[in-house]
Amino acid sequence: MISQEDLRGDVHMHTIETDGRNTIVEMAEAAREHGYKYMAITDHSKNLAFANGLDDARAVEHIQRIRRTGEGIEGIRIFAGIEVDILGDGSLDLSDSVLEQMDLVIASVHSHFNQSAEEMTARLLKAIENPNVSIIGHPTGRILLRRDAYAYDMDAVLDAAARNKVAMELNAYPDRLDLCDRHLRMAKQRGVKIVINTDSHHTSHMEKIRYGVLQARRAWLTPDDVLNTLPVDRFARAMKHES
Ligand SMILES: [Zn+2]
Ligand SMILES: [Zn+2]
Repeated sequence: MISQEDLRGDVHMHTIETDGRNTIVEMAEAAREHGYKYMAITDHSKNLAFANGLDDARAVEHIQRIRRTGEGIEGIRIFAGIEVDILGDGSLDLSDSVLEQMDLVIASVHSHFNQSAEEMTARLLKAIENPNVSIIGHPTGRILLRRDAYAYDMDAVLDAAARNKVAMELNAYPDRLDLCDRHLRMAKQRGVKIVINTDSHHTSHMEKIRYGVLQARRAWLTPDDVLNTLPVDRFARAMKHES
């Protein structure tokens, strides 16, 4: 079974550019202190206006800033990514020409939670079929004690993820723990890979990775099931569906 020492990176993090509390450098240094070999900055896209989400132009500037920052930091690779909103119709909130410049793309639902199961299934399938998408973020949207998972056909979504080599996130944030153990098991049975992330909005959130690892163990996941156990180059290729 997987343990925390197997993880070589945490690839879902926000900065002051959107709704995080720390800079790129502060997040990278905290990740390095955590013992990681890589991390990713994945700020929000513009649909999350209250989070000051990025439009196409700001997203391009931000990945340039992330890459410049990475050149000045030793001992950890900083991936330039984005957490792009999956809009109500399944299209993504940024242009494909911008998304393809990213090292990795997390696509997440942050709106229109009350669609029918049919609409939500079609919406997620459309996002998974976008070749720029690497990971589906917090895939059921549940917030423990506050918001139920949105309804959709998990079998169909996981089958599509397997076909398109899109990973599912295990969001370790304690209010989320999303996917749950049962869905993680369903993913494993199909060969769908998992990425365990904290979705840190502050350097202090990175330690919450342990809740994700505990959840993964409830589903009997092994290091082979989890992409962020890979060495940096293999992880980078997996984010581009190249392995
Ligand atoms: Zn999110
Ligand atoms: Zn996030």
